[in-house]
Amino acid sequence: MIKEQPIKYVLRCRQCGTELADDGLVLFHKGCDPPGLLQTVYTSAWPGQGDDGMGIFQYHEWLPIRRTLPGSSAPVTYRSRGLAEQLRLENLFIAFSGYWPERGALMRTCTFKELEAYAVCARLPERFEDVLVIASAGNTARAFIHVCSTHHIRALIVVPEWSIPMLWRETEHNDCVRIIAVGGNSDYADAVLLADSICRMDGFVAEGGARNVARRDGLGTTVLSCAEEAGCIPDEYFQAVGSGTGAIAAWEASERLSLNKVWPGGPMRLHVAQNLPLAPIYESWTSHSSRIVSMNSLPGCSSEEMYAGVLYNRRPPYGVAGGLYDALLATNGHAYGIANEEAGAASKLFEEAEGIDIDPAAAVAVAGLVKCVARKTVEKDAYIMLNITGGGFKRLRRDVELQTTMPIAVVDRSDFKSVRDHLICKRS
Ligand SMILES: [Zn+2]
Repeated sequence: MIKEQPIKYVLRCRQCGTELADDGLVLFHKGCDPPGLLQTVYTSAWPGQGDDGMGIFQYHEWLPIRRTLPGSSAPVTYRSRGLAEQLRLENLFIAFSGYWPERGALMRTCTFKELEAYAVCARLPERFEDVLVIASAGNTARAFIHVCSTHHIRALIVVPEWSIPMLWRETEHNDCVRIIAVGGNSDYADAVLLADSICRMDGFVAEGGARNVARRDGLGTTVLSCAEEAGCIPDEYFQAVGSGTGAIAAWEASERLSLNKVWPGGPMRLHVAQNLPLAPIYESWTSHSSRIVSMNSLPGCSSEEMYAGVLYNRRPPYGVAGGLYDALLATNGHAYGIANEEAGAASKLFEEAEGIDIDPAAAVAVAGLVKCVARKTVEKDAYIMLNITGGGFKRLRRDVELQTTMPIAVVDRSDFKSVRDHLICKRS
């Protein structure tokens, strides 16, 4: 049952500090140049009740929402034994988002993007009649197809064509959700460009990606879950990043826990991993640049050849106020470049040690941790959070049949105008 929630937060611009009221859709402080990321400021000093039955909404006090939706799942954190032993770590905590019923993890989209999709949809204004436009490299699309289909929210999702096989679902998607693919040698940034141009039309509203506070606070629940299980704020945080939204969210959640003295510990150091060779965040951070370096100088490289192609985003929210550069700087963070072979080996290591398959991006995070341990950058008794952002696909396929959600159109990058013809999303 949908449960209405009173609004218990304001938004603060990370660039200038101005506080704004939220209408459920605002993405930046108008008139601020350049606008920083907005950040939620909650009245509650506590994230919420620990009621597993509420899924992600057990953390409702620290989610920018107007309602709770049924059917969500929270991330599951547990103390690692297998991988911890392999890496000789004493306090390794794994935050798992995906399908692993034996551990109580029930995200049937097998990705932590389900957390952001539930939070974003619960933030939407009352009587939202427009079409929510979302750009994705695959995992976010699958999560929004699931949540918007289940809760009858009109959505148009734009993906690069190569990510269509990632759009699987157990049942056919609801007609209120439509997919458009950008064809050719396109990437996530092309999907963002098309989504932006669609949002200039009446009736289409930008979801906003990293700029959407609900996305970040939804993803930040992984840190809340880990701190709850560990009894403290982790010292070290490992995640694979594409846009870096999850890592920014983790930083914000750890700061909020620290500020409100919910748990001891912190500050939490960020360790972010990217898949080489298309690793702009890694390249930018290791070259001490506060702006993202251009990755157009790698002819012949495409995300399809990468172990985790979803991690390639040539325009991540890196240099924006409150973005990933600020997060890494504030936490004295590290970035790692991971080769395909290292990610493949890490995937195998994790599955053998922990007993569950993980998705390619999560394997890049594991490889980052392996690399860091080899370099002795972390203490062996440090409280470490490993964010397994997706997993259990093989496990899910043992239980159910899956089918791929097909796009209503595949458009060429040079022909975005033709998209209008396809944009009649029916209310279901
Ligand atoms: Zn501002």
